[in-house]
Amino acid sequence: MTGPVLAHLGETKLELGPAEEVRTHPWRRAEAEGVIWLVLDLEDTSTNTISRAVIEGLDEEIRALEENTPRAVVIRSAKHGGFAAGADIGGFEEMGEKDTAKLLKQGHAVLDRLENLPCPTIAVVHGAALGAGFEIALACDWRIAIDGAKFAFPEVNLGLHPGLGGTFRLTGLIDPLEAMTMMLTGKSAHTAKARKLGIADIVTEERHVRAVVEAIIAGKVDQNENAGVKSRALRFDQARSLAAGRMRSETEKKAPRDHYPAPYALIDLWEKHGDDREAMQEGEIESFANLLDTETSKNLRRVFFLQQGLKQNARVEDGIAHVHVIGAGAMGAEIAVWSALQGKRVTLGDVDLDPLGTAVKRAADICKDKHLNGMETRDTLDRLMPDPHGYGLVRADLVIEAAPEKPDLKEKIYADACARMKPGAILATNTSSLRLAELKDGVTEPARFAGLHFFNPVSKMQLVEVVAHEGTDKGVTDRLMSFCGSIDRLPAPVTDYPGFLVNRALTPYLMEAMVLMDEGVEKEVIDRAAMDFGMPMGPIALADQVGLDICLHVAESLKDGLEKPMPEISQRLRDKVEAGETGKKAGQGFYDWSDGTPRPDPDKKGPEDLTDRLILPMLDACVECLRKKVARKPDEVDGAMIFATGFPPFRGGPMHYARTRGTQDCADRLKELEQAHGPRFAPDPGWSDL
Ligand code: NAD
Repeated sequence: MTGPVLAHLGETKLELGPAEEVRTHPWRRAEAEGVIWLVLDLEDTSTNTISRAVIEGLDEEIRALEENTPRAVVIRSAKHGGFAAGADIGGFEEMGEKDTAKLLKQGHAVLDRLENLPCPTIAVVHGAALGAGFEIALACDWRIAIDGAKFAFPEVNLGLHPGLGGTFRLTGLIDPLEAMTMMLTGKSAHTAKARKLGIADIVTEERHVRAVVEAIIAGKVDQNENAGVKSRALRFDQARSLAAGRMRSETEKKAPRDHYPAPYALIDLWEKHGDDREAMQEGEIESFANLLDTETSKNLRRVFFLQQGLKQNARVEDGIAHVHVIGAGAMGAEIAVWSALQGKRVTLGDVDLDPLGTAVKRAADICKDKHLNGMETRDTLDRLMPDPHGYGLVRADLVIEAAPEKPDLKEKIYADACARMKPGAILATNTSSLRLAELKDGVTEPARFAGLHFFNPVSKMQLVEVVAHEGTDKGVTDRLMSFCGSIDRLPAPVTDYPGFLVNRALTPYLMEAMVLMDEGVEKEVIDRAAMDFGMPMGPIALADQVGLDICLHVAESLKDGLEKPMPEISQRLRDKVEAGETGKKAGQGFYDWSDGTPRPDPDKKGPEDLTDRLILPMLDACVECLRKKVARKPDEVDGAMIFATGFPPFRGGPMHYARTRGTQDCADRLKELEQAHGPRFAPDPGWSDL
């Protein structure tokens, strides 16, 4: 009896050994012409992650190979999707409770032995080789990349750096500055870049893999040695110190040391030991173990699980193959392009032709941004059909309305759509501030009407609020959540509340910033305070970026629907909108954007309660949304705020931050602010239930 053929390996077609022999660990083994193929194939999952079992299994295999050396060892993955998605993050939690350094040393020893096997060792990488997966590939003598492969060290996003030898193997293999950039930014090297940098020795297609393996064994392929002169120069301490200094100041601009220690630990490690592999290996283990224990890393790992939690909201078949989008403006165009890029058939309608042309251009830009190859780009463009007469509406499974924020206009659109949509199709609005309870009156079948609130820009902001009004059928929201999952966005279910969850929480933050400006605090000082807290940009710059007209509209529509007063809408905001200075899109808002993104002055200080005045009302609104069941649970609030607003991930989300700071402390501080500045700061009754 033989195991299944690994069909996706195409011409490589290997017959793996009997199933009962290969299931003691996740590696499957095949032998062909004296070459051993070790194929990673984790059970019950479509993606390989590197767990302790993977490393121990590899250890077992290598021990056998040390006794009985083959002509070559080839390491690859049985999964369609790619080589490996990095370490099993769940395993980190377990590791944190044990002797981390000891476990890491065992892992290092296994990869060292792989590296030291006397025969050629070859990693064949298709799709992604991330983190620990990349580290296994780096421990091989050769790396063959199948066209479309990518390599990356995303550990920095978890508050870590590579921990299984990546720090010294990558800096030893390629130009150390390029290696450090990859590890400090987490950015991927796609096939061509991987070849250019010297990560991949050879790029080929699946059908040539066996021939390339034979050519390597026969000594007919040259190793891609690209490290070159720079690498030699950087063996000197002084050269490394100079480069490390530059890296630190670059990193400081994006990730301040107090909030994000990992990149600095990596720079220190390389500066100190970059010329001594053994010392760097020891240093890497120690530094990784320290980082694993930091609050930042714990919170960033938490964010990973929050993301997984939101993904799990997509649990049914969406049954949505064709989407019709009404309105090809800022939002509609991106929603259409993104859905087409993710495989949906999309028709895009607008009353004007110009926005449709712009949308097609935008599609080409997004495909390029996302590194799609020629064929994938062409397929995306084929699936995206500009449809000025709205013919697609009658065939669509889902119709998304993204027309201007005017209730009368939307109602007219719904009347036309409802008359033409096919039975069973869903109608969704992307409104950010109108109540569905009111819009639904213009809809024939309210049970199949809901909100799909995307954030701008759709191709970068992962969250989508899936909004149910009281009469929305649960099956409809389930399908909409799965639709979000199928286009690689994160669905957060919310109810029909003023501003839903995210704008309800964000608006007081933006409006308070304007009140502070009216009190005479400089906008740069306000923005700096928010950024020091960890927000990706300050509230004034954010308001400019969102569009001051949109902010004003959202604030106006929220202010009467809530129990608690909003900050007074600033006259300055009204004046700006009146004057057409609507922010970044107009080149001028509170800031002048003609010169690129403004940078707040780091040295000026504001009033003592500045940060709390900005942040605590945001937390308070989240508490209100939980009390009113707008959102289901604190973790979903945290995930939504991180993935829609950039709430500092290293703080683990607003509710997690409140818990860490102490919910009583937050409520007490709000009371103090209430006394000093007015009833808008009164703590929500929900604080005592947390
Ligand atoms: P926009 O003004 O950029 O685009 C609206 C488009 O709709 C325009 O191209 C216009 O020509 C078209 N249009 C007008 N009447 C139409 C009709 N009868 N049929 C078809 N098309 C018509 O607006 P936008 O910023 O994309 O906003 C659209 C919706 O998305 C609004 O409800 C808004 O609240 C919501 N939204 C906006 C943002 C944002 O940041 N811009 C974020 C989330 C949600």
